[in-house]
Amino acid sequence: MLPGMPQRLFSCTPTKLAAFEDCPRRYRFSYLDRPSPPRGPAFAHTSVGAAVHNALARWWDEPLARRTPERAAELVAGAWTPWTTAGFRDAAQSEEHRRRSQEAVAAYAERLDPTAEPVGVERTVAAPTQRLAFSGRVDRIDRRPREDGDGDEPVVVDYKLGRRVPDDDDARSSMALGLYAVAVSRTLRARCRRVELHHVPTGAVAVAEHTDASLERVVRRAESIASDAVRAQAALDAGTDRDEAFPATPSALCAWCDFRPSCPTGQRSAPAKETWAALEPLG
Ligand code: SF4
Repeated sequence: MLPGMPQRLFSCTPTKLAAFEDCPRRYRFSYLDRPSPPRGPAFAHTSVGAAVHNALARWWDEPLARRTPERAAELVAGAWTPWTTAGFRDAAQSEEHRRRSQEAVAAYAERLDPTAEPVGVERTVAAPTQRLAFSGRVDRIDRRPREDGDGDEPVVVDYKLGRRVPDDDDARSSMALGLYAVAVSRTLRARCRRVELHHVPTGAVAVAEHTDASLERVVRRAESIASDAVRAQAALDAGTDRDEAFPATPSALCAWCDFRPSCPTGQRSAPAKETWAALEPLG
């Protein structure tokens, strides 16, 4: 780059930043190596997540009179197609989890106000920072009255389905949620500070209220990860060995990494899991 020229922004999503932060080798496999290295089979919990997210998004497309818990359950059944339900042990396990997901989504829909039209559902938002061109897709953006009574404000809602119920610390420390708040503010031209994790199986809601300072810290953290990724790329371009420029960082996540079949380090670090191992155990 010529001196004085503006630095090119690092184009990213929360998933891309998290990939580099968790394991630079996984980032390289995902975003740089072409053809992409072989991946492992689909995980059942990922399939459940896709079907539930799909159903919850479609629910808001329904006319008001059909935004009911019963319709929510039907939409889960409709989303339970072969391509969204890979990874189960067998058809009986898939059916059982379809039924449980229908119950969970219907109970979650029961708590929703169907007249509270969201500002966005699976909406793409974007914002540039000094070093990033950030974009991401938000599960839901609500518009709620501000607590100080001064108008209303957009609220970022992210659905969670894992075994662990998220708490307020999870919402506060989530880089993705913070970046979404920044991007929602920019895209909607309305100050967004509140972010929420909605745990669909239990209905629990974890909340964080950001400040300008906390969002600034989120952006700085994301920019620091991006700088490390750019440096690794520059080292690769300068002739550094691929595996040295993007080192493997083995952890418990290796058991769930799509690229485990292509990564001897990950295979050594964590035993392979059944593709349905992260599902809620059947009672
Ligand atoms: S298996 Fe582990 S070490 Fe290998 S790329 Fe995936 S996360 Fe990184």
